[in-house]
Amino acid sequence: MNSIRYDFRSDTVTRPSAGMRAAMAEAEVGDDVFGDDPTVNRLEQRMAAMLGKDAAIFVSSGTQSNLLALMSHCGRGDEFIAGQKAHLYVNEAGGAAVLGSIQPQPIAHQSDGTMDPGDIEAAIKPVGDSHFATTRLIAVENTFGGKVLPMDYMAQVADIAQRHGLGLHLDGARAFNACVALGVDMDIRAFTAPFDSVSICLSKGLGAPVGSVLIGRQDLIDTARRHRKMLGGGMRQSGILAAAGLYALDHNIERLADDHRRAKRLAEGLAAHPALSVTMPDTNIIFVDTEKQVGDRLTEFLQSRGVGLTGRYGQQRWVTHLDVDDEMVDGALAEVAAFFRAG
Ligand SMILES: *Cc1c(COP(=O)(O)O)cnc(C)c1O
Repeated sequence: MNSIRYDFRSDTVTRPSAGMRAAMAEAEVGDDVFGDDPTVNRLEQRMAAMLGKDAAIFVSSGTQSNLLALMSHCGRGDEFIAGQKAHLYVNEAGGAAVLGSIQPQPIAHQSDGTMDPGDIEAAIKPVGDSHFATTRLIAVENTFGGKVLPMDYMAQVADIAQRHGLGLHLDGARAFNACVALGVDMDIRAFTAPFDSVSICLSKGLGAPVGSVLIGRQDLIDTARRHRKMLGGGMRQSGILAAAGLYALDHNIERLADDHRRAKRLAEGLAAHPALSVTMPDTNIIFVDTEKQVGDRLTEFLQSRGVGLTGRYGQQRWVTHLDVDDEMVDGALAEVAAFFRAG
């Protein structure tokens, strides 16, 4: 790929700002495996307090955070219910099965991204029947593909979990995007209230170089801490990284609204081309469907002109983030227009 001028591949591509780097350089540190790193402890306590939960653990990635959650809720031979396209089912290298001996029970998504509550309930295995794995957990993702799933859906799923005595996990890699999109009445505490455990990424829209946090009930976080060590995820002077997370919480949450505004403007610009079928974004992720041939040629053209994006099977994904400004949106739209002018 040529050098990228406008990078819409993912919100993971952001680089730490000067302010964030200064906070990292100045971080007070200790040995976190000994529980001695004051900056890590501050980040964990702050996230737990923000969500109104017992405890939190700072980890290297969203994948590790989800895996620790699955392994804390479920034991060997247990099962978790998740969407057919859930990140923790599809995009995490089968870690729950490989490392936890935990079986996934995937559920088809409806067109709005939710799972049908009837389908969830029907997939829960009867208790005490030795034919089945033991269902322990329901996992929900929100935002899901950049879509904000409604709060009444989350409440419905929580009700099912409660009636069946199951755990409830939120893969909230972009939970702050959802809260900002839902508006002033939605804080992260209300958004995550129904869940026993919540995974939130600091390294996506929040702009930190590394890290996710798993937040939840004390017993789950205690178990996660042992599993993190077992998986080789115990870090030492990781306050340098946690400092970036704390900086992100101070500076980069409200501004997610700018990413959402730019995504909307980008989507409207793309939708002006009749060949492109654009799904209007709730947050910072836009999906564009085209006839496969056109889509592949467009993706290749844009990449050759320094517009970074991901495209497969005629579908493109554009993601806005901290390092995309208004000029970059205009620049990318100009390249799309140039493609269609050339025909
Ligand atoms: C990115 C992402 C993850 C995993 O995060 P990594 O830090 O890339 O491991 C998990 N869930 C969702 C929904 C994500 O978007």
